[in-house]
Amino acid sequence: MMTVRARPRSVILIRRRFCFLLVHASAIMSAKMTGSGAQIIDGRALADRFRAEIGRDVNELRLRGVQVSLDAVLVDGPPGPYGRNSARTYAESQKAGCAELGIDYRLHVLPHSASYEDIAGRVLLLNADERITAIMVHLPLPDGLDPYRIQSLIDPAKDVEGVNPANIGNVVYDRCSLVPCTALAVMKMVDSTGFELRGSEVVCVGASNIVGKPVAILMMQREATVHSCNKYTRGLASMTRRADVLIVAAGQAGLITADMVKPGSVVIDVGINRVTDPATGKKRIVGDVDFEAVKKVAGWISPVPGGVGPVTVAMLLRNTVDAARS
Ligand code: NAD
Repeated sequence: MMTVRARPRSVILIRRRFCFLLVHASAIMSAKMTGSGAQIIDGRALADRFRAEIGRDVNELRLRGVQVSLDAVLVDGPPGPYGRNSARTYAESQKAGCAELGIDYRLHVLPHSASYEDIAGRVLLLNADERITAIMVHLPLPDGLDPYRIQSLIDPAKDVEGVNPANIGNVVYDRCSLVPCTALAVMKMVDSTGFELRGSEVVCVGASNIVGKPVAILMMQREATVHSCNKYTRGLASMTRRADVLIVAAGQAGLITADMVKPGSVVIDVGINRVTDPATGKKRIVGDVDFEAVKKVAGWISPVPGGVGPVTVAMLLRNTVDAARS
């Protein structure tokens, strides 16, 4: 007579879990292959996760006697009815964000009449102060002042926006600890999908010094095959359709339509455009990608707002902590 031995409960549970994972993974894979709907890369949720990590690092440094701080230079906008401008509003929200994580924030406000020498002088003073570890300069600067001239003066070790040419250059050598924040945010967002960059095709639409070019270089370092496109690229759609990972930073609302996207790909929309909603007549913010149409084709997609923006803000704080540590 044949005897049936009862399987231990743990084996049954492991088998059940394995089957569940198999079914779940194949459902996700088939969604990716058929393009039956993208997963949304939630920038706000990701930023919350990074902020929690940053907060822990700030505490750990404090226990070692290091107080993390950020010094920001802001040239006031032209006098308005309330004497404020959008950079000021941003600086205030930055101050609140720093306070939440225990980072000291010092805002150095210069009058709208500030000259190049005034701004440069302030940056050089901050560079020279050993207690100061993180510096940024809010834009815009007054008309006629080239941001490059000021950004070039920030000590590269304290340049937490990664805008000093030395830091951008160091990205090429893979030796940079302070990578431009938006480029870093893009990389973190792609990584959050678990997508393997090595051997994949990446297309960057937009080749600015601060977003498109650093992203392209960071992707090359991950051994992806990278195509960089700009406004003179011929046959843009034939390029974007090749992309396993499509990064769009052109500043052109509606530039990327569903027929320009490879099914199942990762689409990161960096663009920020203010448009008038034809239905309501109200202004709203959109990216460069036709989100509603493209999300039916892509495997993963980041929205605007709520995508790259919040992660970029978190990366500034990440760099601020890293600058204090080094
Ligand atoms: P930029 O104006 O310096 O450069 C735009 C680039 O896009 C150029 O290389 C240009 O050739 C290319 N381009 C323009 N039109 C194109 C077209 N039709 N086809 C292909 N390429 C085209 O812009 P930037 O500073 O890199 O910013 C790009 C966008 O990203 C803007 O909307 C900006 O507001 C946004 N942005 C967002 C963040 C963020 O944190 N979310 C940060 C920086 C910039």
